Amino acid sequence: MTRECQNCKVSFEITADDMRFYDRIKVPPPTWCPECRMMRRFSWRNERSLYRSKCAFSGKDIITGFAPDSGLVVYDRDTWWSDKWDPFASGNEYNFSKPFFAQFYELMRKTPLPAVFNARTINSDYAQHTGDFKNGYLVSASWGGENVSYASRVHESKDSLDVFFIVKSELCYETIDANKSYQAFFSQNIDNCVDSAFLFECRGCSNCFG
Ligand SMILES: [Zn+2]
Repeated sequence: MTRECQNCKVSFEITADDMRFYDRIKVPPPTWCPECRMMRRFSWRNERSLYRSKCAFSGKDIITGFAPDSGLVVYDRDTWWSDKWDPFASGNEYNFSKPFFAQFYELMRKTPLPAVFNARTINSDYAQHTGDFKNGYLVSASWGGENVSYASRVHESKDSLDVFFIVKSELCYETIDANKSYQAFFSQNIDNCVDSAFLFECRGCSNCFG
């Protein structure tokens, strides 16, 4: 079956297999195309856009993933996790005569949210979805690192810049998907490589170029 996406107006296919699956889990078939549905899901997780704003509890300046004009109630991260406020204060009794999503929307708009989703970070104000991190700047979705800037998906790595998805690595620059690598520049999909540059799909290289 072909349908027109209600959002972007592109036509998309719903296969017989898809229909059987929707029947089985008792949901209606989608009205948006796969790309628009993907964007809608992604809009729930903002990793890389940060805003200057004010904590709605104390008025203190904060850096947050929620836009100041979003209408959402945002608390400084440490305040949100503290016992200074009552999380039940924004609660409502569920009204069975009203649709669930309308009530969920109202609840979401008045319930405080933490400015950032970080844990145990030091000097890493411009980080999001990041934990156990020291001196991180514009770092997202990373866990365990030190002295890393302009990066995402960094795990147990340090002293690196402009990197994406590096694990247990050090002194990397412009490198994507590196595991246990040291001083690797402009490289991609590498494992156990040291003192090298411009590598692609390499394992156990040292002093290699290109
Ligand atoms: Zn669409």
